[in-house]
Amino acid sequence: MAGLCEGRVAIVTGGGRGIGREYCLMLAAEGAKVVVNDLGGARDGVGADLGPADEVVNEIRAMGGEAVANGADVSDWDQAKAMIDQAVSTFGKLDVLINNAGILRDRMLVNMTEAEWDAVIKVHLKGTFAPAHHAAVYWRELNKETGAPVNARLINTSSVSGIYGNIGQTNYGAAKMGIAAFTIISARELRRYGVTVNAIAPGALTRLTEDLGGPITEERKESGDPKWVAPIAVWLASEESAEVSGRMFEASGNVLAIAEGWHRGPTAKPTKDPHEMGAKVAEMMKTARKNAGMNGMDLD
Ligand code: NAP
Repeated sequence: MAGLCEGRVAIVTGGGRGIGREYCLMLAAEGAKVVVNDLGGARDGVGADLGPADEVVNEIRAMGGEAVANGADVSDWDQAKAMIDQAVSTFGKLDVLINNAGILRDRMLVNMTEAEWDAVIKVHLKGTFAPAHHAAVYWRELNKETGAPVNARLINTSSVSGIYGNIGQTNYGAAKMGIAAFTIISARELRRYGVTVNAIAPGALTRLTEDLGGPITEERKESGDPKWVAPIAVWLASEESAEVSGRMFEASGNVLAIAEGWHRGPTAKPTKDPHEMGAKVAEMMKTARKNAGMNGMDLD
């Protein structure tokens, strides 16, 4: 059976560990050539070492696939551009960019430092924007040169922490909700070139999450295997997914779902008088849908 991504060229950011590593291995198993990006830092994003990316590259080569390592900090503008250029100079083109790199610096709002806020916003938001921008410029030029849709894919990484909201993660959740908006808007902008843009809110047991959610049981290990997350990323990366864009997929061993975005709920006639507002809000609140909890269902 031909691979789902035969001949496609993909970059996976944060591909040295966790979910990104699984994306790289499954993409390669399905015939893609892969640029494995990884900074090689510690869990809080400090330090750099190409080791994890090289290990994934070696695993892919050992199974007969093609891959190269890249050590860019994805939130660095010039390094992000060089990463896109590396894919094109090494493999002749770029079809897929998976923005997966991420760090955590959890803290309650009252205790969160400026540095913790800045680091998380930088890696997730600028680390999504910078590679996406440089890839989009490449795809637009290609589209103008050939006059044909480029059939390319941008796949971003969000989180239920952002789209539904998790206590202790105002920095991370704000970044992940920002990535959700970025996905919807860039999907609309890039459609004309033949680029789809989607996001995944994954759930997996990785270095990022191993300290959260209590003891690591066999059941948690199984449902937290990143192999449950990789298939939706690999399918989105393939040519089969051309009709799907601007969507948010939840994926883990427990759930595969499409998360639906904000919609206007109950309405009232606008007023210039703040004294009228209480009654109007009370009326709208009667039928307004509750926000979702971390399980995606209405909060009690
Ligand atoms: P992980 O095992 O810690 O992997 C994250 C990867 O991102 C690491 O390989 C890390 O590289 C890399 N990275 C961090 N900063 C980088 C930078 N500036 N430039 C390049 N690479 C960088 O975590 P994971 O659980 O697989 O997370 C992958 C993505 O899924 C993240 O965006 C995360 O927020 C999201 N997510 C995960 C879960 C979950 O349940 N695991 C839930 C929701 C969302 P080094 O560590 O080697 O530097």
